[in-house]
Amino acid sequence: MSKKEAIKGGEFIIRQTEANEVFIPEDFGEEPRMIAQTCQDFIDAEVIPNIDKLDAHEEGLMPSILKKAGDLGLLGVSIPEEYGGFGLDFTTSMLVADVLGAGYAFSVAYSADTGIGTLPIMYYGNEKQKQKYLPGLAMGDLLGAYCLTEPGAGSDANSGKTKAVLNEAGTHYILNGSKMWITNGGFADILTVFAKIDDDRILSAFIVERNYPGITFNPEENKMGIKGSSTVQIFFNDCEVPVENLLGKRGDGFRIALNILNLGRIKLGANVIGSAKSAINQSVQYSNERKQFKTLISNFGAIKYKLAQQVIKTFANETAVYRMSKNVDDAVKRNIENGIEKGQASVEAQREFAIEAALIKVFGSEMLDYVVDEGVQIHGGMGYSAETLIERGYRDSRINRIFEGTNEINRNVTADTLIKKGQKGVIPIFEEATKIAASLDDMPDSPQFKGDYFEDAKMIVANFKAAFLMLIDAAQNKFGRKLAREQEILFNFSDIIMESYIAESLYLRVKRLQELKDEKAASIYKDILDVYLFDSSNVVYKNGLEAIYSFVDEASQCKYIKALRCFTKVKGTNVKEARQRIANKLIDDNRYMF
Ligand SMILES: Cc1cc2nc3c(=O)[nH]c(=O)nc-3n(C[C@H](O)[C@H](O)[C@H](O)COP(=O)(O)OP(=O)(O)OC[C@H]3O[C@@H](n4cnc5c(N)ncnc54)[C@H](O)[C@@H]3O)c2cc1C
Repeated sequence: MSKKEAIKGGEFIIRQTEANEVFIPEDFGEEPRMIAQTCQDFIDAEVIPNIDKLDAHEEGLMPSILKKAGDLGLLGVSIPEEYGGFGLDFTTSMLVADVLGAGYAFSVAYSADTGIGTLPIMYYGNEKQKQKYLPGLAMGDLLGAYCLTEPGAGSDANSGKTKAVLNEAGTHYILNGSKMWITNGGFADILTVFAKIDDDRILSAFIVERNYPGITFNPEENKMGIKGSSTVQIFFNDCEVPVENLLGKRGDGFRIALNILNLGRIKLGANVIGSAKSAINQSVQYSNERKQFKTLISNFGAIKYKLAQQVIKTFANETAVYRMSKNVDDAVKRNIENGIEKGQASVEAQREFAIEAALIKVFGSEMLDYVVDEGVQIHGGMGYSAETLIERGYRDSRINRIFEGTNEINRNVTADTLIKKGQKGVIPIFEEATKIAASLDDMPDSPQFKGDYFEDAKMIVANFKAAFLMLIDAAQNKFGRKLAREQEILFNFSDIIMESYIAESLYLRVKRLQELKDEKAASIYKDILDVYLFDSSNVVYKNGLEAIYSFVDEASQCKYIKALRCFTKVKGTNVKEARQRIANKLIDDNRYMF
């Protein structure tokens, strides 16, 4: 892709993307597929048989399984070859996160180690720091953790009180303070610790080795789920950190923390795909075995509905994750071509797509909560038994809406970042919004569908975006820069933006699949798209209506509501039968094969 055509983060809201511009999972070649199979074999052989022992915190078990993953190269997927890793592209690393996502608490330990535990050093370490730590992290000889949160500083991460003071000899920073909820804290060898030097307003980052003097660790937290993952509070009492372990420059810490979280968010979006597929497999297999009223429960319409919805949401999430991952890879390549150093090129590419990362994190975590919740329901009483994996999946899922930035923070990031990009002129949102606003007086009651399946789907997606643009124009006129304080309205916008991205990604993938597969095989994907667009239009409508009633003058409300109705109209589809066809395929295959 040439520089002129380069896709900017957040630009999807005004840009019409063509199907041949997007990467879909079906594009993966033989090598990534083999890597995915290795990950699946690892989950089946090393993780699932040990799942109860992991949850019981059997001494040394989690680190030993991580070490086995390291021996297979799974910890060094993203680490450059010169530091002992494989240096695979971003999209393939997301595939690894996706498949390993089926590993319950292991997935959390793996993600924390290879993501937030390793990447600060990989992206911000100097050559000496990288040489010293990355080969060990790639092999699993060293395990990593990320220490940002404090008892008094969660979402407001920069408000942390942990302090670093240079000693008189100028050889060590002396750290004092505590960090809370630290994943892998019970065993990690290398901690990235964020602290303020002297009375700085902004955090700095330090590489802290576990055996430095002055560190103590609380016992494991007793958690609702992901019980097998280690989560502890860590105390620093005059902990001595050599000056050469400052990561980046003084005051770089907050920037490092946020950029690493960007990556954590998209990785979480990939993780939940594997978890969701596993929960769907458990659900369909149970429903194909359990009989009530002398019939398999998979024959009941109510169960088919749930199975279909599980598939649709998972498929949609997967579609968005790989579309965005490839955008990141393309941006990395461009950055390198423009002379940016490789690590920096990756960080900048991930930051560019911060809006997509935030919305995928929200969508993915809420998707998994839906899938496991209905999974428990399909299992009936058995779903409430701690003997089933679905019960564990249900408990384990809940954390995803809390860490890597809560979903409230990420909804805020989605809308606020997009609006700021508009205000700064990076993306001409307001220019496009003004055009939409000017056309409102002449809005028809309903869109003029052309009768061509994909042209009409494209129009539906474009209309979701138009609904956002219409509302952002009105909100900007009403609130100006104070819009950033209107959180409920921003959340309405965020959900419309999210639906627009997911719906567009799905439309583009299904269009590609139509070209790749024969008509019969492709038809099930059209069912997925039809139901998704139907559900999505209701989400956009509800959020749009809430926004209109909350800030549009009474005299203009009718005009906006009429336009919103038009922008959220989809073609009449028999979604009941579409869901039945999706469920029937799942029931026949007895596992997720979409
Ligand atoms: C199991 C587990 C593992 C974790 N692992 C790590 C780790 O490895 N490293 C690490 O550093 N941290 C880790 N965390 C911490 C996690 O990132 C924080 O819990 C999270 O960022 C939320 O912070 P908090 O718990 O203090 O909640 P708070 O920030 O106190 O939030 C409470 C509520 O208020 C809402 N809220 C806060 N601010 C706003 C706002 N501006 N607008 C709207 N709503 C708002 C939140 O969304 C939430 O609903 C982990 C947490 C858990 C539970």
